[in-house]
Amino acid sequence: MLTEARNASHYREWVEHIAHNETKDAFRYLVGLAAEDPRYNCYPMRKGEVLDFRFEDAHQEQPFSFITNKGSLLFCFRKPATQAGHWSKELLADHFDSVSENARGEVTVRLRSIADVQRLWRLIGPSTTPFRSGTTPTTQIGYINPNNQRCGGNRGVAGTDHLQLAYRMDCQVPDCGHVYGANGTDVFQRKCPYCQDGKPGIPF
Ligand SMILES: [Zn+2]
Repeated sequence: MLTEARNASHYREWVEHIAHNETKDAFRYLVGLAAEDPRYNCYPMRKGEVLDFRFEDAHQEQPFSFITNKGSLLFCFRKPATQAGHWSKELLADHFDSVSENARGEVTVRLRSIADVQRLWRLIGPSTTPFRSGTTPTTQIGYINPNNQRCGGNRGVAGTDHLQLAYRMDCQVPDCGHVYGANGTDVFQRKCPYCQDGKPGIPF
C-alpha cells in the first residue's frame, strides 16, 4: 500500500467487491496509473453505497472519478473535463461501446478489463496534456537560463512551492540532456541536478 494513502483500507475491500477477476485487475491497473500521475491527487471515498474513486487536479477540481461496481468500473468524465471540450460523448463513443451522458452533462464509460483501461489512458494519460508557457518571460517554452537549462513549459501540475506550477527543464549541456522538473520561480536560476549539482527535480 502507498505510504499515507487516504482511506487505504478501501483498496482491498473494493477489489473484493468486484465479481470478476478481469475487472479486479482493471481496478488494480487503473489505481496504479493514478498513483504515478503527477497531475492529480487521487483517493477512494465511500458515499453510502457508492464506492467513488476521485481524481483532483491542482485547482481542487475533479475532472474524473470512477465508481467501483460489481460488474465494471463506471468511469466518469465530470463537468470540468466535458466543459473543457477535450472529451465529448461522440469522441468517447469511437473508443468505447458503453458510453452514456447524464442530466448533469457528465459522460460515463464502463471499464471491465486492463485493455479497457489502456484505451482510456491513451486518451487521458499524462502524454495527452500539452505543455504550455507560463505568464512570465522566464517561464516561456524555449527560454534558456544562464546555466544552459531550457524551460519546456508546464502541463498544469502543481509545484512544491506555494501556488507554483512545475515546469519541464531540459539540460542543454553537451552530453548531458537530463530532463527534470522545477518550480516556476526557480526556472531562471535552476542548475541541472545531474551535471551541475542542482537540487533534485520535482514531478512535472
Ligand atoms: Zn545536465
